[in-house]
Amino acid sequence: MPISSTHIFVQTTGGTDIVDLTPQIQMQVKKSPVKNGAVTLFIPGSTASLTTIEFESGAVSDLKNAIGKIAPEDGHYDHNERWGDGNGYAHVRAAMMGPSLHVPIVEGKMTLGTWQQIVLLDFDNRPRDRSIVVQISGE
Ligand code: ZN
Repeated sequence: MPISSTHIFVQTTGGTDIVDLTPQIQMQVKKSPVKNGAVTLFIPGSTASLTTIEFESGAVSDLKNAIGKIAPEDGHYDHNERWGDGNGYAHVRAAMMGPSLHVPIVEGKMTLGTWQQIVLLDFDNRPRDRSIVVQISGE
């Protein structure tokens, strides 16, 4: 069973930057010989997450607002007192949203919905160079 691992690279602005990764991941799936299997996506790092959303400005802004209510930037965070890096909110957001996604591949294509895009959420309080692990397995 073929398994291939690659990375895709993204520069983010920080401050809950939400980036559509779908075209880059589709390209990796297309290049792969796998017709039926799955793609596993993982972001190393404790201040970023992966999820899916309809990538249009309204839904993206709604998601940012909802996350901001759950873990506001100006809330109290023990992490900030211990480390002084001011991104306690980012660690909490990332932990709640999760670092990985698993998408089935059927007949050479990811089984995403028509209005469903794969997005990176970078919660950190500064710009970051992010590397996302893309592992494709199947036959
Ligand atoms: Zn931190």
